[in-house]
Amino acid sequence: MADYNNLKVWLDGEIIEYKDAKVPILTHSLQYGSGIFEGIRAYDTGNGPAIFRLDDHVNRFFRSAKIYYMNLKFSSEEFKNAIISVVKTNDLKSCYIRPFAFYNDDSIGLSPFNKKISVFIAAVPFKEYLTEINGVRCKISSWKRISSNILPVKAKASGNYLNSIIAHLEARYSGYDEAIMLAENANIAEGPGENIFIVKDGKVISPGTSSDILEGITRDTVLKISKDLGYEVVERDMHKEELYISDEVFFSGTAAEITPIVEIDGIKIGDGKPGKITLSIKERYMEIVHGKIKAYYNWLTFI
Ligand code: PMP
Repeated sequence: MADYNNLKVWLDGEIIEYKDAKVPILTHSLQYGSGIFEGIRAYDTGNGPAIFRLDDHVNRFFRSAKIYYMNLKFSSEEFKNAIISVVKTNDLKSCYIRPFAFYNDDSIGLSPFNKKISVFIAAVPFKEYLTEINGVRCKISSWKRISSNILPVKAKASGNYLNSIIAHLEARYSGYDEAIMLAENANIAEGPGENIFIVKDGKVISPGTSSDILEGITRDTVLKISKDLGYEVVERDMHKEELYISDEVFFSGTAAEITPIVEIDGIKIGDGKPGKITLSIKERYMEIVHGKIKAYYNWLTFI
């Protein structure tokens, strides 16, 4: 288990010791998954740490809360400053930041109507998530991605992640690194915690935002970087067989960054190695998050 005991976290407006931030075991959100959250990263730059696309993450957090009827008691500006203060207080150079809003109420009943909402912000030291630098091997999951007439896919909500977790575990227990999930209509949706891209004939292609995906901030970054690098970018539906015959496939995500996918269901993608265009996007992404390119400084919040 990770030892976070020397960290400080923000809870409902105060910075306190991690070990003092406690909830009762019958907390509603623990029992029912009724929380909303974010995953944000700060990277070391030559100029101290910088949080990547903080405004966009804060906006998504408030959108997730709105969809799930959670009325947060502070402004997005206050929340942004709270995130910055957690990174500062812990003196972290590069870290993963986890804001979380939840029903802080220990009752056994299902309804959280009018129950107390708490918010915490934690920041922990963090390295690469999908560590296979040579690319990952994926399985098309037998579990479909939740569709937005069942749960709001556009909200980053805890309960939604049971769908991600079961797909991920199925893939891992079947000997793969990660899952790829289809939507109900057989279109490619996304990974359990990542958006997906293919590269075909020099074009960078990803499912559009009207499909059942979380609107990833890294996804948006990839679309912009790809255009800046001169690639044609297309957002459209695709089926799984198109993945098998793509030149390149990759995941994007705050944790996964840009992760090449080199094999799907035992079929090699391209020559089975990370693709050139994928690697060029990854290289540019890493330069941007590490503050190496001034033109993208508007995405960085320096601490
Ligand atoms: N899809 C899902 C289901 C995710 O959990 C994530 C991670 N937040 C992503 C896509 C990628 O989103 P982002 O690039 O904003 O991290």
